[in-house]
Amino acid sequence: MSAEASVPREEIPWYPKVNFNECIGCGQCVEFCHNDVYGWDEENNHPIVVNPHNCVVGCSACAKLCPQGAISFPSKEELLAAIRAARERHMAGNR
Ligand code: SF4
Ligand code: SF4
Repeated sequence: MSAEASVPREEIPWYPKVNFNECIGCGQCVEFCHNDVYGWDEENNHPIVVNPHNCVVGCSACAKLCPQGAISFPSKEELLAAIRAARERHMAGNR
């Protein structure tokens, strides 16, 4: 069983963060992701993360294609630490 399999998705903090100072509103991230993670802020012409937990844990494809490098994710270490902490919370709760 993988580490994240025993932890509810909502407790895994893996989703994109957009730096609006860098984003140029090209929309490539929104077009690319088929999981409805992103919506679009018409007023400010940039993407917004509307369904963070639809993001596939470990995927960072949209960050790689962003021409501005405006999308970031936690580091692998941060991800693993968060999964470990969530697992420990659940194990403590199940005793
Ligand atoms: S791909 Fe990058 S620059 Fe283009 S809309 Fe998304 S975050 Fe903004
Ligand atoms: S990392 Fe993958 S699943 Fe998550 S928002 Fe980007 S393209 Fe979609």
